[in-house]
Amino acid sequence: MARVTQDEVRTALGGVIEPESGRSITDLGMVKGLVVNDGNVGFAMEVPADKGQAMEPVRKAAEDAVNALSGVLSVTAVLTAHKPAGSEAPKAASPAHPSQKEGRDGIPGIKHIVAVASGKGGVGKSTTATNIALALAGLGQRVALLDADIYGPSAPRLLGLSGKPETDGKKLWPKEAYGIKAMSIGLLIEEDQPMVWRGPMVQSALEQMLRQVEWGEVDVMIVDMPPGTGDAQLTLTQRAPLAGAVIVSTPQDLSLIDARKGLNMFKKVDVPILGIVENMSHFTCPNCGHRTDVFSHGGARDEATSLGVPFLGEIPLDIRIRETSDGGYPIVAAEPDGPHAESYRVIARVVLDSIDDNSRAAPKIVIQ
Ligand code: ADP
Repeated sequence: MARVTQDEVRTALGGVIEPESGRSITDLGMVKGLVVNDGNVGFAMEVPADKGQAMEPVRKAAEDAVNALSGVLSVTAVLTAHKPAGSEAPKAASPAHPSQKEGRDGIPGIKHIVAVASGKGGVGKSTTATNIALALAGLGQRVALLDADIYGPSAPRLLGLSGKPETDGKKLWPKEAYGIKAMSIGLLIEEDQPMVWRGPMVQSALEQMLRQVEWGEVDVMIVDMPPGTGDAQLTLTQRAPLAGAVIVSTPQDLSLIDARKGLNMFKKVDVPILGIVENMSHFTCPNCGHRTDVFSHGGARDEATSLGVPFLGEIPLDIRIRETSDGGYPIVAAEPDGPHAESYRVIARVVLDSIDDNSRAAPKIVIQ
């Protein structure tokens, strides 16, 4: 069967009407980052930040319109918040507290830093961070991955890295894998060394990874954050000049409560939330194709809508994602033309669009 073309998808989306204006979503310029890859379609729909919930039926209608075309295997449409130009201006103009501002100085050579965080461990944060990093590289960005998960560094496993990084005694050189640069706290400490890095120790280790590594020219640095919302996490959000944060959650209620804590942590330090990714969202049986919603599916989408933050997409629970991650060959690198890589690319595009928008406003610290 012939696969659907980009033009066919655009034409179908042209028939989807935004009810308030009565105009089509393509005429309104709402469709962003359309990717059509061998029957897998992904795109973002840019909506005003306060209209997230109201626009959900339009998002669904857009997905259905594309799904109805022949030659379509999968469709992922995500809502992304659009801030009116200049809406951040008064905030940006107010001077930041000097000592805080100093702590957030940019890192030479690095344009944007994006944190990938989760309220608790084991939800697939590192897998998601790594695959987003690889997807960004696939979109032509110069990418670095900083594995700051002091409790369970996973970049060595995920990217198959080993050995101490090269150093001249002052600077450290990052490792490279699948076209991205990477540094992990797991490469800097002995495996049998007890992990009692708390408070100031954590801060100095992270500081070293941020400022003493020769990253070179980087468009986007992805920081794989330690899970949770304790002191170590807060310190990092305060010290790194973050352009935004992506929150990874499974659909289970408990982890959503944790995800909410994660959102609040970033809000406190005025780091924009780029959106929530629902990981392990559903399970499709590799033998019969039957889809099972393992955890209460859709929880993260509803949660994102009610919290007014963009929903970036859902990644299924798939043995291939686990095997490739744990085998040091993440799925975006291993199967770049597959549907999972496509889902990560959609997320990567939305992240890229949002940080470009946000970078126009200077960071501001809110002290509560
Ligand atoms: P975290 O960083 O949140 O602790 P990891 O990314 O290390 O979580 O993932 C925990 C485990 O779950 C790993 O074995 C990983 O391969 C697996 N995993 C993560 N996401 C998926 C997924 N979508 N499908 C299947 N396995 C996954």
